[in-house]
Amino acid sequence: MSRREQEHQQHVRVAVVGSGFGGLGAAVRLRREGITDFVVLERADSVGGTWRDNSYPGCACDVPSHLYSFSFAPNPDWPRTFSGQRHIRAYLEHVVDVFGLRPHLRLGHDVQKMTWDKDELRWTIETSEGDYTADVVVSATGPLSDPKIPEIPGLDSFPGEVFHTARWGDGRELRGKRVAMIGTGASAIQIVPRIQPEAARLTLFQRTPPWVLPKRDRRITEAERGLHRLLPFTASVRRGALWALRELQVSAFTKRPGRLGPVEAMARAHLAKSVKDPALRAALTPSYRIGCKRILLSSDYYPAVVRPNVEIVASGLAEVRGSTLIAADGTETEADVIIFGTGFRITDTPIAERVVGADGITLAESWKDGMRALRGATAAGFPNWMTIIGPNTALGNSSMILMIESQLNYLADYLRQLNTLGGRTALAARPAAVEAWNREVQQRMRRTVWNTGGCASWYLDASGRNTTTWPGTTAEFRRVTRRVDLAEYDVLRARATATATATAASVEETV
Ligand SMILES: Cc1cc2nc3c(=O)[nH]c(=O)nc-3n(C[C@H](O)[C@H](O)[C@H](O)COP(=O)(O)OP(=O)(O)OC[C@H]3O[C@@H](n4cnc5c(N)ncnc54)[C@H](O)[C@@H]3O)c2cc1C
Repeated sequence: MSRREQEHQQHVRVAVVGSGFGGLGAAVRLRREGITDFVVLERADSVGGTWRDNSYPGCACDVPSHLYSFSFAPNPDWPRTFSGQRHIRAYLEHVVDVFGLRPHLRLGHDVQKMTWDKDELRWTIETSEGDYTADVVVSATGPLSDPKIPEIPGLDSFPGEVFHTARWGDGRELRGKRVAMIGTGASAIQIVPRIQPEAARLTLFQRTPPWVLPKRDRRITEAERGLHRLLPFTASVRRGALWALRELQVSAFTKRPGRLGPVEAMARAHLAKSVKDPALRAALTPSYRIGCKRILLSSDYYPAVVRPNVEIVASGLAEVRGSTLIAADGTETEADVIIFGTGFRITDTPIAERVVGADGITLAESWKDGMRALRGATAAGFPNWMTIIGPNTALGNSSMILMIESQLNYLADYLRQLNTLGGRTALAARPAAVEAWNREVQQRMRRTVWNTGGCASWYLDASGRNTTTWPGTTAEFRRVTRRVDLAEYDVLRARATATATATAASVEETV
């Protein structure tokens, strides 16, 4: 890069990448820590992440809204116990305004490459709209932000519309069409009840049926909302109760999967009540232990599936020949529209290909044997780079916002430590510390329902390792992310040399 180009780069203390709950939460936290020298780089033209992209009919959270929101930005006005996408997106826009984040937003900035400059001890960030340098990068690009569409032979020959659930956009017209939904995961079961009444025919390609529990969704009454507005502690009590209930369930997922038996019985009863046809019921009954894959909540999925215009193909989509869809079991289906509800690039996240660390290798190369990060946040070889919702931070039964807020505590302490160390300093996670953390997480993972429940899920990577979920309570994660332990880091300091522009970095101290 030429000197001139360098001069045109904007330097910031912190560059946050992504403007979902993670990125916006980080931005609020930075301001609260008194840091205003930061930008939020977002590839889309508005904030919201998951809740901007997933505009499909029926999209809503499956953790109650009073828990699925920031503790520092309570919303007394949630309209439903499980509010819809539109309301969650509006909530995030509100957070941007209330906390004065708009001046920091750099929308339409796709981060294409982040390179650690080991001489200057800072990151060079190339975006679609110009370059930045930053002392610290907070990567909040989201584990569920890049849709995964499987490679299906002949898909190009399909004459109709093909899209992913997370790219629904506006104005999709399915009325009178033969629709094929590929996958029956969390998004699909929200969509099916909404599109079934209008589709001429709806075929669900189901590789593995999900366990489904009734969704106790209801309108939050005006009286409740008024109470939360008038006496905010009542909303806190409500949140606390929702949190505690989920904390009590954790050990069943992580230590004693046998205890999930009664939950499985509830799911079986829910299925039996809604689906009378034994053959269809058999096709919809999972063969793995409940909890192994994410437990889905819906009271209207099964009632939609039994409608005469819906058909389950208990097999994955294997090939497309024009408008004919051929399942792995040979079933042939004619369709006008294909909707992929096939999840996201989670364990092969694209951002990892765009981050180049101290040794000149990408994060993707560094993670070729599986994602790993110290306390879910920092990776060996990538100084002053932190990810929000990094490896082994996802939850099976509670709100990701709890995990995000724990990581924000870690971020705040990280920045405080850097300030205390003074000068141009960086913290580099020690490989041994990352490995020790990862070993312990993987050790604990052995007993969890995700690893023992007999299913293949997005929690596991290509080699069968669980690099996504956290095998403990959210309280424990809060504890282990409260402070940065400098013993787990090497401290790098930049040494000024004869020329003002050149500096040499060294590991000056290992604490
Ligand atoms: C349909 C759906 C429902 C869900 N429901 C729940 C729920 O009920 N409870 C729960 O706990 N969790 C739920 N989740 C998980 C949810 O993703 C997290 O709770 C949370 O919203 C993630 O926030 P995030 O900021 O980490 O990521 P995201 O919300 O995905 O935001 C990431 C942002 O980074 C941007 N970005 C990515 N790459 C780049 C780049 N190269 N350059 C610039 N910007 C980039 C993206 O455009 C996006 O705006 C759900 C997920 C989905 C998909």
